[in-house]
Amino acid sequence: MKRPGSSADDLGVFFNDWHGAVADKAATLAAEWVVDLEADDRERTREAARRLAAAGLLAYCVPERFGGAAVGRPDGVDTRALTLVREALGWADGLLDTAFAMQGLGSYPITLAGSDAQKARYLPGVMAGERLGAFCLTEPEAGSDVASMRCRARRAGDRYIIDGEKAWISNAGVAGQYVLFATVDPEAGRRGITAFVVEPDDPGLSVEPMQVIAPHPIGRLRFDGCAIPAERRLGAEGDGFKLAMRTLDVFRTTVGGAALGMARRALDEGLDRALRRRQFGKPIIEQQQIAAYLADSATELDAARLLVFRAAHLRDTVERRVSTEVAMGKLFATEAAQRVIDRGVQIHGGLGVTRGSAVERLYREIRALRIYEGTSEIQKVVIAAGLKARR
Ligand SMILES: Cc1cc2nc3c(=O)[nH]c(=O)nc-3n(C[C@H](O)[C@H](O)[C@H](O)COP(=O)(O)OP(=O)(O)OC[C@H]3O[C@@H](n4cnc5c(N)ncnc54)[C@H](O)[C@@H]3O)c2cc1C
Repeated sequence: MKRPGSSADDLGVFFNDWHGAVADKAATLAAEWVVDLEADDRERTREAARRLAAAGLLAYCVPERFGGAAVGRPDGVDTRALTLVREALGWADGLLDTAFAMQGLGSYPITLAGSDAQKARYLPGVMAGERLGAFCLTEPEAGSDVASMRCRARRAGDRYIIDGEKAWISNAGVAGQYVLFATVDPEAGRRGITAFVVEPDDPGLSVEPMQVIAPHPIGRLRFDGCAIPAERRLGAEGDGFKLAMRTLDVFRTTVGGAALGMARRALDEGLDRALRRRQFGKPIIEQQQIAAYLADSATELDAARLLVFRAAHLRDTVERRVSTEVAMGKLFATEAAQRVIDRGVQIHGGLGVTRGSAVERLYREIRALRIYEGTSEIQKVVIAAGLKARR
């Protein structure tokens, strides 16, 4: 059975002793997991969450003091552990990777800003893979420009009434908790944004599935006078924007991890094919152009691994914001992975675009990583802002 390699094997400078065991558990699940392109995305996601919980991997989404296994900084999760897990899962299957990522992304704002009662209500189910998470920021008219969101929360006694729409929400229709960012004052821009937890059976919430190019449970949420108890607010009114950005500092790095895994898989598959496939009387790896594709891919993959794990290491070990380094890791790893996978398809020739081949699937899976949690262009905006701030 094939197993993914891990950055924990050869980039020891970034890791503690225990990280190798985390990567190993993730690699075992990645090797056993069977991709099923015909299955329903939502059913498959539920199954993935159960398997991730059974493998002990969801424990890394929840800090030790709330019952999980994530250790390190006082506020919680260990970015390197999450990134190593996504490196292994991305190698196996984008849907399995997304199921893991959403348990983290859809619970970390609760870890950061939730009351003890909120943590007790939501985090155990997250860890058990029973309560699937969702993180609801994007709207049809507010994507990169998050602060222009229109989804509105109005206080009415001991409740908030929510009206508006969210789009491209991963786990829509399958989530057991929706971390929702809505504005309490549309004129206040980012200072009006406030976080809440919405539950699937709250009256006034409806879900409409969407389809993207690779298996991924995703959809629109409509809030039509959706009333939730005021105690479901996370943190104070107006704290939501900062909470979202602190969450993205962790999870953007892990998107880089998933891209590394997908690129590593494309390189593995390309190398296997180049050694086996014979044309003109010899394996195609003997053709200089094919050898150069493999050399370029291996070099770009290693450069990406260094940037991603530098960001993860800094996030875990220094007190300052590391948004610039995080953005560099996500930008370079996702863009490089797209190139590595494209070369993997080319090395496979016609087989590379044949439905069901691993590189064909990777070609579809990688595309969204350059868009979600901040597009490549937005990562450049963040990097340039960081450069300016240093002057
Ligand atoms: C598979 C998938 C899963 C997703 N899951 C979630 C989720 O779970 N939760 C969630 O909230 N959202 C999710 N999203 C939404 C995602 O975060 C947004 O699609 C993304 O932030 C971009 O927003 P947009 O699609 O509105 O594009 P737009 O903001 O309209 O951007 C269009 C283009 O303009 C560029 N652009 C915009 N502003 C600038 C600028 N200032 N400088 C340079 N270029 C700019 C963009 O980079 C892009 O190329 C998901 C998206 C996908 C595809």
